[in-house]
Amino acid sequence: MSYLVLARKYRPKNFSEMVGQSHVVQALGNALTTQRLHHAYLFTGTRGVGKTTISRILAKSLNCLGPDGQGGITATPCGVCQACTDIDSGRFVDYTELDAASNRGVDEIAQLLEQAVYKPVVGRFKVFMIDEVHMLTNTAFNAMLKTLEEPPEYLKFVLATTDPQKVPATVLSRCLQFNLRPMAPETVLEHLTQVLQTENVPAESQALRLLARAARGSMRDALSLTDQAIAFGSGELLESGVRLMLGSVDRSYVFRLLDALARGDGKTVVETSEALRLNGLSAASTLE
Ligand SMILES: [Zn+2]
Repeated sequence: MSYLVLARKYRPKNFSEMVGQSHVVQALGNALTTQRLHHAYLFTGTRGVGKTTISRILAKSLNCLGPDGQGGITATPCGVCQACTDIDSGRFVDYTELDAASNRGVDEIAQLLEQAVYKPVVGRFKVFMIDEVHMLTNTAFNAMLKTLEEPPEYLKFVLATTDPQKVPATVLSRCLQFNLRPMAPETVLEHLTQVLQTENVPAESQALRLLARAARGSMRDALSLTDQAIAFGSGELLESGVRLMLGSVDRSYVFRLLDALARGDGKTVVETSEALRLNGLSAASTLE
């Protein structure tokens, strides 16, 4: 039996499954329902907050045929038609994802833009998704600008970046921009709890709290850490195991250290620091 990592298994397949980005989901949903579509979208935000996921859902919304093959543009893609299933499995010919962090060259962008003059092969729309778009060279940006200025009606751009300040103003001004927020620890915690219930993995709530905090706003990181923790804990998530895995510190050390510092008890401070050092941790990072 092959094991599908949680981050992939629980990647949202429609807008209603998206967690923690309701402001973006609502705006896109309204635009799709009223068919007031922009030709270029820019999604900004740190890693693992849903930029690629939203792009794929948007591509499905634009191309969904509905279960009966009669559907049109929709805010609720059916998930079962050829377009939806092909986009989900990464083999829809009219949806292209390009990672500018690894395809910085003008050549790749030029090749992609050459494709822009051809109508979609099977879909209503061609969707070009360029991730980490700030990594493109200036020449590549200039090549893209021409198409961004006068895009054919069947072409949609989805640009994504962790660093919008490095995207030229000429490109920014042609995009409808959405900022995806880092996920709040409570949001991550809630989602992890649901996922583990579905997976039938027993978990201590304090263990999940630690994982949610360690993810630092990224749902993808939260799910990857949870995968690791499940392996580490042989199928269950205990606070002690997760703490060990994350290298985080037993809170009793923190209290002892703070207490000793407050009392000016140098001997205990040294002893506690030494005990932490033996665990491979520093007193400074413990207090953090
Ligand atoms: Zn569909």
